Amino acid sequence: MLDWLILGAGVHGLHAAACLRSQGARLRLLDPNPRPLSEWDRRAELLGMSHLRSPIDQDIDVGQLSLHHFAEAQPRLEPGAFSGPCRAPSLALFRRHVAWIRDRLGLDALLERGVARSVELVEGGVRVESEEGSLRARRLILAIGRPRTQVPAWAEGIGGAALHVFDGGFDHGSPGGAAVVVGGGLSAVQLALRWARARPGETTLVCRRPPSIAELDAAPRWARQRWSWRFANFSLAGRMAILDSEVRRGSVPSQAAARLARAQRSGRLRVVFGEVSSARKEGGELLLSIDHHGALRCRRLALATGFARGFDGVPLFEGLAQTLGLERGPWGMPLLDGALRWHPRIHVLGAAASLSLGPLAANIAGARLASGRLASMGPS
Ligand SMILES: Cc1cc2nc3c(=O)[nH]c(=O)nc-3n(C[C@H](O)[C@H](O)[C@H](O)COP(=O)(O)OP(=O)(O)OC[C@H]3O[C@@H](n4cnc5c(N)ncnc54)[C@H](O)[C@@H]3O)c2cc1C
Repeated sequence: MLDWLILGAGVHGLHAAACLRSQGARLRLLDPNPRPLSEWDRRAELLGMSHLRSPIDQDIDVGQLSLHHFAEAQPRLEPGAFSGPCRAPSLALFRRHVAWIRDRLGLDALLERGVARSVELVEGGVRVESEEGSLRARRLILAIGRPRTQVPAWAEGIGGAALHVFDGGFDHGSPGGAAVVVGGGLSAVQLALRWARARPGETTLVCRRPPSIAELDAAPRWARQRWSWRFANFSLAGRMAILDSEVRRGSVPSQAAARLARAQRSGRLRVVFGEVSSARKEGGELLLSIDHHGALRCRRLALATGFARGFDGVPLFEGLAQTLGLERGPWGMPLLDGALRWHPRIHVLGAAASLSLGPLAANIAGARLASGRLASMGPS
């Protein structure tokens, strides 16, 4: 029996693994991908992401300022290794740092490939079944990210989920003609800029309103442990209100806003403000009706409309809530204790821990807050 089994080898699972491994715990990560952080890499590549949004002090290593020291120790740092007032690291630097952590702590060897299908309590721990067999551990961490994308109803009849940039079935290739990206946040802007670079003048970004400018997804204070505890002490309604008002949805950092404005001015990218009300296929094309604007015709469409906020209907969460009678709050989010326990043997990290950690729960900052909470339980 392992000490810990972590479901999901994304940012949250990997950071938890690094922390537990450095304490000498016996653990495994279970994820269908061939290496840790595969989902992150896939999304970043698809969007043509050059830099992270988060600052240099938010990295996935154990301890503080590891990425900062790693960068200083590089014999030669490429120009543009950092961007913006928050010194957001380039994706290339972040990846090198992650590779160094994985190597140093031997994290790749801890990865078992598979999708967790069910979890049940057994004597002294839990057993997780995947298509590859079963794993048993004294404690389980759920770090499966946000499993469902947000697909607008009007897109259902023309391709649905497969049109979403974060869906496994999304076509990675550049468009071969007129293209439309729908969405109002950083992912939409990044993809529209990437497509506009590939085929200048043929891409349109459709968003409800001009993106607001914010360097980070939420104010930096939410990355501090003290603020996350303060958050957790509010009533449920208070926490929901804070999440609603503090997470800067539909915002982009100043540098991305400047790139968007340049692309618009030069005619490489067109931006239309409005809401898509319906869409249909016509021959080999798609015809989108946009409120207050008229119709747009395109050959390729991408939905960069983010992830579903809640966890209702996510099989692992539904199964656990039903079989173990575990409590859930609004949006089907698990209600956790201070050490992020949903059950004495089951912890939850990432976006699903938003009601305990606050507005940055899903981010790297949230992964670091979570490891502090796990450590607050004492030795594993
Ligand atoms: C494009 C983009 C850029 C971002 N940039 C930043 C940034 O710069 N800074 C920042 O702090 N945050 C950023 N974020 C937010 C956040 O850090 C990322 O969304 C991050 O990927 C969340 O990590 P995660 O581990 O929760 O989820 P994921 O990265 O989605 O990882 C979850 C893992 O769980 C696995 N999994 C799912 N279900 C199961 C199952 N049943 N069994 C086993 N494994 C399973 C998946 O295969 C996946 O590998 C960004 C997000 C996006 C989308």
